[in-house]
Amino acid sequence: NKFENLGLEQPILQAVEDLGFKKPSEVQAKCIPVLLESETDLVALAQTGTGKTAAFGFPLIQKIAEESRTTQAVILSPTRELCLQITNELQAYSKYVPGLNIVAVYGGASINEQAKQLKKGAQIVVATPGRIKDMIGRGLVNISRVDYCILDEADEMLNMGFYEDIRDILSGTPEEKSTWLFSATMPNSVAQIAKKFMQNPVEITV
Ligand code: AMP
Repeated sequence: NKFENLGLEQPILQAVEDLGFKKPSEVQAKCIPVLLESETDLVALAQTGTGKTAAFGFPLIQKIAEESRTTQAVILSPTRELCLQITNELQAYSKYVPGLNIVAVYGGASINEQAKQLKKGAQIVVATPGRIKDMIGRGLVNISRVDYCILDEADEMLNMGFYEDIRDILSGTPEEKSTWLFSATMPNSVAQIAKKFMQNPVEITV
């Protein structure tokens, strides 16, 4: 059970070493090889604190084409705090990947400032559903060419009433993409999202 055996390349392995991560957590050991090897949809049942951000973040960073400025991935998360936390973690994980821009968009802060960041070209956008839907409507974010959609803490997002926003956001993404859903619990509402918006997802439980 080593990071070196999961298919990760040197830039990520170097960041892992800098961060002092000794070995992959269970969710990382289960998700990373699957996500690196195939373009599959995935449903992972994992609590916060299990290392799930790296479980999707490492494969995502490795798969993004940083030489292109197109927005290739959108990560939806329930709160501003979580958005900022994911963004900070992904920035640390990608410190040896020059040219990769990760931008957070969330409510309660200046749209203009976030739009300015996006204009520089963000390959990964980490967003709360309400704010990104607003910005898509204003033409400030383009998700029409994403390859990856990640729904983080899906149960929390649905509890907070974001179903319609998530539905509308996903409907603006290409049919052909990979969707990775992470949730601490699997109530009916989350199972329905998986059924409606995903195709034969690999299921991982930790
Ligand atoms: P998360 O569940 O993604 O919010 O991660 C919880 C915390 O664990 C974060 O502070 C990570 O930086 C840290 N972490 C993630 N993976 C590992 C690992 N393999 N070894 C040690 N710490 C980790």
